[in-house]
Order: sequence, then C-alpha cells, then structure tokens
Amino acid sequence: MAKPQVALYWAASCGGCDVAVLDTNEKILDIANIADIVFWPIALDFKYHHVEAMKDGAIDLCLFNGAVRSSEQEKIAKLLRAKSKVMVAFGACACFGGIPALANFTNRAGIFERAYIEAESNDNPDSTYPQTLVKVPEGELELPELYDTVLTLAQVVDVEYYVPGCPPPVDIILKTIDLFATGRLPPPGSVIASDKTLCDECDRIKGEKKITRIYRPHEITPDPERCLLEQGIICCGPVTRGGCGLRCIKANMPCRGCFGPPPGVTDQGAKLVSAIASIYQGESEEDIARMVEEIVDPAGTFYRFGLADSMLKRKRMQPPEGRA
Ligand code: SF4
Ligand code: SF4
Ligand code: SF4
Repeated sequence: MAKPQVALYWAASCGGCDVAVLDTNEKILDIANIADIVFWPIALDFKYHHVEAMKDGAIDLCLFNGAVRSSEQEKIAKLLRAKSKVMVAFGACACFGGIPALANFTNRAGIFERAYIEAESNDNPDSTYPQTLVKVPEGELELPELYDTVLTLAQVVDVEYYVPGCPPPVDIILKTIDLFATGRLPPPGSVIASDKTLCDECDRIKGEKKITRIYRPHEITPDPERCLLEQGIICCGPVTRGGCGLRCIKANMPCRGCFGPPPGVTDQGAKLVSAIASIYQGESEEDIARMVEEIVDPAGTFYRFGLADSMLKRKRMQPPEGRA
C-alpha cells in the first residue's frame, strides 16, 4: 500500500518549527516509515515545480509553519492548499501571526525606512530600497513583494487543524502525526492541544489575586512555588490554551501566550488587559498611570503572538495622500 504523502513548508518563520520536527530525534524515522515526505524546503531538495506537477489533493497532510507576509508565501500557501487533503497551521506564526505579526504595528514603508535608511549600521547613501524587479546585464531578477500586513494561514487559505506553540512541543507534533496515521484526527477546525487554560494545568500555589505593582522578570526573583501573576509578573496563563507542558512556568518564567487563546476567547490581548485590570489594586489615577508605565512593552506583552488573529489585526495607518 502506498504511504501517505506529507509536505512541510516554512513561510514567514524563524525556522524553529522545522527544528522542532527534527527534535523528534529518532521518532523522525517513525514518521519517515509511515509517510513519504514529498516537500520540505529546509531539509530536502524539492522545488516548487515538483509540487506544481502534483495532482490536486495528492498530498495527504501539509504542516505549514510561518505567517504569510509576501507574494511568494501566499502563492505557495494556495498551491499547497490545492495539493493537500489536510492543511495544518503549524506553530504560533501560522496559527495567529506570531512574532512576525508584530510588524502589523507598522507597514512595509515603515519597515523599509527603518531597515534600509535609519538603521545605525546602514551605508546606503542613495537610499536604495529592495525592488521586486531589477534589471541586470544577465536579465531581470525578481523578488517577492513584501506585504503591508502579516496574515495568519487561515486568512489566506482554508485550514483543517491548528497545532499551536512557538514552536509546537515534540509530544504534540508526535500526537498530530499519530492521529493522522491512525485516522483519528478530530473534527476539522480543531486545535490539537488542551481545551483548558494554562492556569487550569498549572500547579503553582494560587491565592488572592491582587497586585499593587508590575515587575519585569529580571526585576525580581519570583517564588518558584507561587503563581507568577500574583507576584506581579505578567503571565498570560489565564488567557492561554494549555497543553505545552508548562514549559516556561517550569523555568520560573511567565507564559507569553504562544498557545493562543483558549476556547471562547476571541482576543487574547484584550482578555489579558481585562484580567490584569481586575486584579490591580491601584486606587488613584496616579496608581493607574504608574501601572501603565510599568508595562514597558504593551504591544509585545498583550499581542506577542496573536496580533494578526486579534480583533485589532493591525495598527490603522494613515492612508497615502489623496486616498480616503
Ligand atoms: S512559531 Fe515560533 S518557532 Fe515557529 S516559526 Fe514562528 S517564531 Fe519560529
Ligand atoms: S498565571 Fe501563570 S503562574 Fe499563575 S497559575 Fe496561571 S499559569 Fe500559573
Ligand atoms: S508557558 Fe506559555 S509561552 Fe511558554 S510554551 Fe507554554 S504556552 Fe507557550
């Protein structure tokens, strides 16, 4: 019997999700035993035209990591969608936009300005920006277009399953493969993780949730037994889906929310703002102003992984002159 065909792809990604697949160590051989890997740019020398030549639906499972922020990534997302029976948003970037989607607080012009003009190490006297088409003596060179807005995979193509995490933990990767191999995948639309919040799974001592000031992790040495949020360190546990094995909490570090929102929460950042406001004990306007000052990086604190998938989606930018 023919083995199932599996593809892996990275779009706007750091490569960590691919490394997480390799972190399955010898279990990767089990994956190779049950499936033929027919496309995996980081590891195998397949070309796009090999995928284009496949029949629609020829790939049984596609694990797509990374957000979508360029014309090339959108094109390959649509190509892999057409060729795949089951499309999985693999990792926080594909599921929610992830770290790359923090770029939605600016746009392409802002990014180019900072990267190619303002950056202290630049030597760009002619203010040259990247071009999508450049003529050289040998012909024309083409680069993908960088989009203004970073998108989740599901904002570009239909997605059957979501495997969260930055990156997804090895046990969840193996579980996903096992569910696929044994024909036990849950209903389409499912997130392959816990249905509880991280707080539900956390066994730290929880008491009265009241805080009077907020600390950054380096400012105090937290008690490793007590809830971090109650010690004034912003922990996304109340607004984050469980299932990661409490990776950060066990290292005495707060959760940053990479498993995305739990069931029933549509905007992880807004929910966290609400959770913190409900336990903050400030009484005067000065107290509130001080607390706001103590949250040094609100964008990265509340929307580190989920801006593209939030109700905000992106910062509203001034339209170019002459356009409404
Ligand atoms: S989810 Fe994390 S590990 Fe995976 S590509 Fe995005 S930033 Fe990298
Ligand atoms: S807020 Fe963080 S430390 Fe506190 S119970 Fe939830 S996950 Fe654990
Ligand atoms: S503790 Fe939070 S940030 Fe850390 S791995 Fe788990 S879900 Fe992700």
